[in-house]
Amino acid sequence: MRNVQEIIAKSILTPQKVGSLEGAFDYSLNPYAGCAFACSYCYVPKFPNARHEVKEWGDWLEVKTNAPELIAKDRLKVFGSRIFFSSATDPYQYLELKYRLTRKCLQELLKYQPAKLTLHTRSHLILQDIDLLKEFGDRLNVGFSFTTNDDHVRRAFEPKAPSISRRLATITTLREQGIRVYASLAPLLPCDPDKLIEMLEPHVVGAWVDRMNWPDVNRSPELKEQFASFFNEANYEQTINYLQSALSRPRSNSLRSRSRSFIRQKPKQVIQQMSLFTS
Ligand code: SF4
Repeated sequence: MRNVQEIIAKSILTPQKVGSLEGAFDYSLNPYAGCAFACSYCYVPKFPNARHEVKEWGDWLEVKTNAPELIAKDRLKVFGSRIFFSSATDPYQYLELKYRLTRKCLQELLKYQPAKLTLHTRSHLILQDIDLLKEFGDRLNVGFSFTTNDDHVRRAFEPKAPSISRRLATITTLREQGIRVYASLAPLLPCDPDKLIEMLEPHVVGAWVDRMNWPDVNRSPELKEQFASFFNEANYEQTINYLQSALSRPRSNSLRSRSRSFIRQKPKQVIQQMSLFTS
């Protein structure tokens, strides 16, 4: 990470009155701005940002050092609210090892009792905070990103993010510790759908899936060429449909039997649908 800046933020709870989290969450909480994982399909760098260009995504990070204090200041908002943590960064990117900012925010949130907390990540660093996560009990859901079962594909689209095996080991531990985990297959990347289902089903209580919207959300157009046969409209649609129909078959001990639904919708609807999982 070339450009790391410690900043004093003006606010930390962003009201969700409009946008993709509206309806399912009252606030989003982002202790960092920027993200070192720099996934090629991340939509965040497309947000208006006067300080950074889209091509710089992944090279800069702003650390909101006063985030815990801001949570304490906003404690009346926290009480009884539904919080999405985080919508525009990964709360467990590697610099969390240094700053422990997510941990400090969780400690504050625990004091002021939100009604619902959804932690969204793709990082094994979440395991550092298992003690705190367990204290949230039923109010907590962890959304864990699994966009493919193939680590070659993961490396192409998310080269700086944790490997599939690391993620799998992480959700295995979370499940063993009694923490509820949902899988996010959004956007769906080239994969073997059967292996993906087989890999996830013992560990998650639900999942949501969405498609890649080239070229709006991917900064690496060459990947579309590289995986052209998978992203061919007919094949992509068929693969997604196959995933859905495979998961709708009655199975014993299956993801389907334990989840409320496995869905594919547009991003706004997807996040709203998360309220089904998180209510
Ligand atoms: S981990 Fe999330 S926020 Fe970070 S780059 Fe990837 S998609 Fe964007």
